[in-house]
Order: sequence, then C-alpha cells, then structure tokens
Amino acid sequence: MNTLNADLHCHSVVSDGTLTPEELAARAKAQGVELWSLTDHDEIGGQARAATAAAACGLDYLTGVEISVSFLQQTVHIVGLGFDADNGPLEAGLQQTRGGRSQRAQEMAADLARVGIQGAFEGALKYAGNPELISRTHFARFLVETGICKDTYEVFRKFLTEGKPGFVAHRWANLKDAVRWITQAGGMAIIAHPARYKFSANEELALFTEFKGLGGRGVEVVTGSHSAAECVSYTETALEFGLAASRGSDFHSPAESRIELGALPTLPAALTPVWTLLAERIQRAPSPITARA
Ligand code: AMP
Ligand code: MN
Ligand code: MN
Ligand code: MN
Repeated sequence: MNTLNADLHCHSVVSDGTLTPEELAARAKAQGVELWSLTDHDEIGGQARAATAAAACGLDYLTGVEISVSFLQQTVHIVGLGFDADNGPLEAGLQQTRGGRSQRAQEMAADLARVGIQGAFEGALKYAGNPELISRTHFARFLVETGICKDTYEVFRKFLTEGKPGFVAHRWANLKDAVRWITQAGGMAIIAHPARYKFSANEELALFTEFKGLGGRGVEVVTGSHSAAECVSYTETALEFGLAASRGSDFHSPAESRIELGALPTLPAALTPVWTLLAERIQRAPSPITARA
C-alpha cells in the first residue's frame, strides 16, 4: 500500500492554483496518480467538481482542504482528508477563516504602495478565480507580470514574507477549531509540510503534541516542500508520535510548480499511509466497462 501513487495535496482556481478541478483530475490521471485529493486553501467549493471529474477519468478520490491556522505567531497549514463535503459546521468554519482575506489584501497592497508598487490589489484580484480567496500567490503573479520579479520564487524571497514589503500579519483559525471542523465532519486532520515552518525544536514539539492531543492523526512526510533529508527526519517524527503519513505534491500551476502531480518518491515502508486508515472514505472510481462477447 505504501507504493500507491497517491497525491493528496494540490490547488485549483478555487484557491490559488491556475487549473480547474477538471483539468487537475485529467492531469493527475495522465501522470499516473491512482488516488487523488484537491486541497484548496480554506475552501471546499471545488469538491463536487473534483469528485465528479475524478470518477469520470477513473481516479479514486478523497475530499480535501488545507486550512490556514495561527500557532505560536506563525501560520501552520492543516490538511483535512475524507470529510463529508456538505458538513455545515466545517463550511461555516472555513467561511469564517476566509473572511479576513479581502481586508488583509487591501493592507498588503497599501504596504506595497509604500515601496512604490501601485495597483497591487486590483492586479492580484485579476488572478483570483475566487474573489473570497485572494492570496499571496495572486500578489506574486502580479509582481511577476509587472516585471518586478522574474518568478514567484523571487517574489517570496523579496516580498510578502515576514519583514519584507507586502507582508501583513494575519490571524487565521486556531489549531483546536481546525482539527475539530475536520474530524467532526468525518475526516482526518494532517499537519501539512512541517519542514516549512520556522519553529524551534520546543515549539515544533508543542505543535505535534497539541495536534495529537486534539485528535490530529497524520503528517505529510513526502511533499513537494521537503528535501530528502527532511523526508527522513519527518519519517522519524511520524513514528515517534504515532501519526499516519501523507504524500502530496502541493501542485499549483504547470508554469510555477517544480513538482508535478504524482511525481514524488513513494512513502517509506515503515510508515502507515493515511489512505489505509481512510479506506472507507475513498470514493472509488467506477471500474472501466469491459467489452462483452
Ligand atoms: P496565503 O494563504 O495568502 O498566506 O498564501 C499562501 C500561499 O502562498 C501558499 O499556499 C503558497 O502557495 C504561496 N507561498 C507562500 N510562501 C511561499 C514561498 N516561500 N514560496 C512559494 N510560494 C509560497
Ligand atoms: Mn497555495
Ligand atoms: Mn501549505
Ligand atoms: Mn498547499
């Protein structure tokens, strides 16, 4: 089961990706993905389209979301998989989490104007397929379009991150609520790309301990955000905390993403894959119609 080509983390135009749920399903299938999940930021509006498209192209599907959480002054992402997409409290929690994005975007644009970059709010909004979900990625695309940066990687080195122009501290959901929204909707909560956070060893211990205590059950070990060494390190963390392991590219765009859908190493054999624990929640694609004599 560890060798299954599962890709359980990517983004569509419903958040900050550039492909539609249908385009992503077709691309995942073409790349050899066997089990797929669309995990838009703070938004499950693409789930029905993703599940339908997955079934149509013969892909097994798990519902997905990536919730923005504030923990010890940093933003942590919690992926939810296998929940009921029509769950009211989950939708209400996500709506509340999305709520501050417009105001934050106005403040980001004001801060960019301070360093001479005009029109960033309108410029970013143009890239947002979902106006409720304006994100730093959309600002990054605008800064590339204007020629201020050569690619989105340069943007995040020079702008939009702590201490750089365009950064606005924001209060997201709290960890307890995010884990609860996912689990009470029948899903599994998973810590996304843990190596991306800049926690001290003690702070990271607090994150994993608190997450586990709240009922969180998984951690991304193989992700587009981890080096091989980080993958080894979080394999140990998963085993130490008794967490299941997930695998996901975090694909956003053919032009921007370095890691293609389904193109990651397989999960280390010692780990329990999240998809084994979520077997009952997988929406199985209908088997292809076989020719009859
Ligand atoms: P937001 O939710 O608006 O804070 O935007 C976060 C998104 O910006 C992430 O999901 C990534 O798509 C992108 N992002 C954040 N930091 C970086 C980074 N250092 N390099 C590339 N993309 C990043
Ligand atoms: Mn993103
Ligand atoms: Mn993330
Ligand atoms: Mn992501």
